[in-house]
Amino acid sequence: MRRPKGCRGRHGTLLGGKLVNPPSPVQAIWTRPQKNGRPPTGHCSGMEPTRSIGRAQRMSTMEQVEENVASAETSGVNTLTRSAQALALFDQVRAKYNELSPIPCTKCEYCLPCPNGVAIPRVFTAYNEGMMYDKPDVMRRWYKQWIPAENQAGACIQCLECEEKCPQNIPISEWMPVVQEVLGEDKPYVRQLNTKG
Ligand code: SF4
Ligand code: SF4
Repeated sequence: MRRPKGCRGRHGTLLGGKLVNPPSPVQAIWTRPQKNGRPPTGHCSGMEPTRSIGRAQRMSTMEQVEENVASAETSGVNTLTRSAQALALFDQVRAKYNELSPIPCTKCEYCLPCPNGVAIPRVFTAYNEGMMYDKPDVMRRWYKQWIPAENQAGACIQCLECEEKCPQNIPISEWMPVVQEVLGEDKPYVRQLNTKG
């Protein structure tokens, strides 16, 4: 699949790779004592509990959470966890990531290529991470520096071609002017369309 020019590169990790920790609301879930008064103790196959906890706490993106869950689910019976507690923990983390992301983009890239060159998932990820990590100015700088103008949200001409392909039914053409205003023109962040957040 052809990718918009300039959308991949050595700075593929948003925020320059500085975000090695999950957002603080997610970190709070990982470290919150459970009903038994202990920290979370998810068990993965062949891993000591302490390693498992460490692995869980190193999951800094929703993708990493999902990759680890998928990996554990295919590795055999009872290999993800010995208790429902760990699965519930993953669910809580997943829900928190979703809650922190204004645009429910999964980065599946089904919407690509945009005929006008907009780097749709890249643009949405920048927007979401600015709010998720409470680093709007960092993401504004990143957006301007690492996404060429011809691939930014401002290049959208509202042709709607992408919206037919999006399994999340995201009103992409409506979000694009908002994203451009917020990341490209330093306007205040918006949590929902038509709602100042
Ligand atoms: S609506 Fe905008 S982002 Fe979507 S395909 Fe058309 S130009 Fe690209
Ligand atoms: S198709 Fe939708 S969910 Fe997938 S990357 Fe594009 S905007 Fe995001």
